[in-house]
Amino acid sequence: MPFFKTFIITTTSILLLTAAFAQMPSTPTAKAPPAIICLTYDDALPSQLENVIPQLNALHLKATFFINSIPGSSDQLGHGSPSLIAWKAAAAQGHELANHTLFHPCPQKLGWEKDVSLETYTLDMLLSEIKTMHAYLDAITGKKKKRSFAYPCNETALNGVDYTAALRKLGVVSYGRTGGDQQSIITDVNHTDDLKMPSWHVMEGTSGEAMIAFVEKTMQSNGLGIFQFHDVGGALFNVSKEAHQKLLDYLHDNAHRVRVLTFSDAVAEMKR
Ligand SMILES: [Zn+2]
Repeated sequence: MPFFKTFIITTTSILLLTAAFAQMPSTPTAKAPPAIICLTYDDALPSQLENVIPQLNALHLKATFFINSIPGSSDQLGHGSPSLIAWKAAAAQGHELANHTLFHPCPQKLGWEKDVSLETYTLDMLLSEIKTMHAYLDAITGKKKKRSFAYPCNETALNGVDYTAALRKLGVVSYGRTGGDQQSIITDVNHTDDLKMPSWHVMEGTSGEAMIAFVEKTMQSNGLGIFQFHDVGGALFNVSKEAHQKLLDYLHDNAHRVRVLTFSDAVAEMKR
């Protein structure tokens, strides 16, 4: 074939191919999986700073921490409490710091001393404590109009009266997290009270396999599954570091099947 003819055929082929590609629908962007997992941790426990946050950060996973008192102080002038500085850093890394009251009042039947129990609180006392915690979190993470809230000991009643309506009126709480078990997967978020989103209160010694089973169930129902952890490598409702790592590895490896979002982001996303 003469050179000129070859050139024309090749050029025509390129033009035709270009035209064909131009008419092809663009590759659809991968759709985010509908199932969502939230990792939430209560009480600002030291094991969360020591074990949980490093494990999460290594896999770029974000979580929600329901903070009440932050312990510790420094006796060195100009130095802050090491845990306060660490929580500030966690917020800067993209973790959500949320409201869990200031002094964590719980019912006497759960072992709380009478003087600091929920039974000694009035509604005004409890609400002003929640507002104070909100201002405290403002000082740590920057100002926010509303924040998520977790009920101390998952108790939504004060002296027998549900206080969620008062909480809504207070205006500083966006979404509320309550307790629950392995069955507490939310499949219809629009018919779930956004101040009473149930979660699985993970009990002492729960295995990595059991936690993964909860994730799988959440994926099967295209739902929202919320873990409620306390200590990881500590004492309170403790889950071992190894079991926790197993869960995180599974979530990381299955990122195409399930998203991991903070509690506030997850509820907002499900409600869209
Ligand atoms: Zn708590």
